[in-house]
Amino acid sequence: MTESNKDVRTIPDCKRRAAGPVVVIECFQKIPCDPCHEACNQGAIGAFDDINCLPEIDFEKCNGCGRCIPRCPGLAIFVVDETWKDDLALVKLPFEFIPLPCEGQRVYGLARNGVELCEAKVIRVENTKGHDRTPVVWVEVPRTLAMDVRHIRVGGTSLDEQED
Ligand code: SF4
Ligand code: SF4
Repeated sequence: MTESNKDVRTIPDCKRRAAGPVVVIECFQKIPCDPCHEACNQGAIGAFDDINCLPEIDFEKCNGCGRCIPRCPGLAIFVVDETWKDDLALVKLPFEFIPLPCEGQRVYGLARNGVELCEAKVIRVENTKGHDRTPVVWVEVPRTLAMDVRHIRVGGTSLDEQED
């Protein structure tokens, strides 16, 4: 996704992304839905004037916690941390497929259209009762691809196995 075609209401600009982890909401269709607002205890996702409105985000209030990710039925919410480490970024994404990856496993980072973009390392898998069957997977990807990797394909070997 280029800077020019971002929706300014739901996509943080590069300056905000450079300041730390932040939500990215790729919700562009007006549908009757608003649990993202209820999920955010930081007040970063504004109240909806109309249930069909698109979410509006105050990126300065967002701390990148990811609580809103599993609450979105459209799987449209991500968190991106372009300050993660060196030339790597962290992407937190919803993942409703099986098998779930394991922490430390090498997977493939995919674009929105399913095209394979890069290898990615799984950092954490969140799958508590509160996630209500929408696990959130944290993956480490090249920083240049932080705004492009939006899904993963599981099928690699673990990094530990590779290093043996
Ligand atoms: S990531 Fe956390 S702080 Fe940011 S919008 Fe989602 S719930 Fe709110
Ligand atoms: S919960 Fe998801 S689909 Fe519903 S309005 Fe929020 S971002 Fe859009």
